[in-house]
Amino acid sequence: MGNSSTAMANLSFRRARTIGGLAAVLLLLAACAPAPPRTFSGDQAYAHVLEQCALGPRPTGSPAHRAAGDAIIAHLRQWDWTVETQEFPYRNTTVRNIIGRAGSGPVVIIGAHYDTRRSADMEDPSQPVLGANDGASGTAVLMELARALDKDRLQHEVWLAFFDAEDNGNLDGWEWCVGSTYMAEHLTVRPRAVVVVDMVGDADQQFYFEHNSDPALLQELWQIAATLGYTDTFIPEYRWTIYDDHVPFARRGIPAADIIDFDYPYWHTTRDTPDKVSPQSLERVGRVLEVWLEKRE
Ligand SMILES: [Zn+2]
Repeated sequence: MGNSSTAMANLSFRRARTIGGLAAVLLLLAACAPAPPRTFSGDQAYAHVLEQCALGPRPTGSPAHRAAGDAIIAHLRQWDWTVETQEFPYRNTTVRNIIGRAGSGPVVIIGAHYDTRRSADMEDPSQPVLGANDGASGTAVLMELARALDKDRLQHEVWLAFFDAEDNGNLDGWEWCVGSTYMAEHLTVRPRAVVVVDMVGDADQQFYFEHNSDPALLQELWQIAATLGYTDTFIPEYRWTIYDDHVPFARRGIPAADIIDFDYPYWHTTRDTPDKVSPQSLERVGRVLEVWLEKRE
């Protein structure tokens, strides 16, 4: 039994220790705070749309396009993805595909084009396309996946493939899907699946089955969307036939699918701007891919 002053001193000491412990916990929390939870965030993805559009239009070969590619590479490295680039000349222009790799097992490719169309030929061919939805949205989803995916849950070696030179088709004799065609022709492994995301950020979002896509892969992805409650946006009915970055892989017999919302009135116009894109739309696509890639089999 101690006297009261000793008891008071002990109490003060214990309180001081508790406060010290609390401060340590708060410091630890503060140290962890910069990394948001490892779940796909539409807000984070939307920030990547804004960053890309802040560079201006990003047609293949332009300084803005080079800067966009450099930012993708830096982001992949920041989140511990192994980066490889594929550079090759095409019509006197240097084309650069970027691949981030993580995980082990059979290869699965998630792809998006990061170039933008140099002519807004659905409206004013003399102007370029900013490409908030057509270019930046799919790229932003891949960039946020680079942060959000839990690498120890991946059942595959995942490639985040940023295709170059998709979107100058029919301009001065350019073809569509130049970068993805090159990647498909230079594969040294046979991917188990390829999923392309293109024009995925429309605030008024509806995804339909696309005819050049592998039916079983579409079913699998739309089924995941249904379990996440996205039945209003992932509609299991056929609508468009699109020549997109999945086709060069599909032609080699690789199961490939295109997640694309082609009902977009600002397509290849100067009005394809970030105000047409919503974080919620980006998040739905990202969550479907995240669940698919982290799924326990
Ligand atoms: Zn386009």
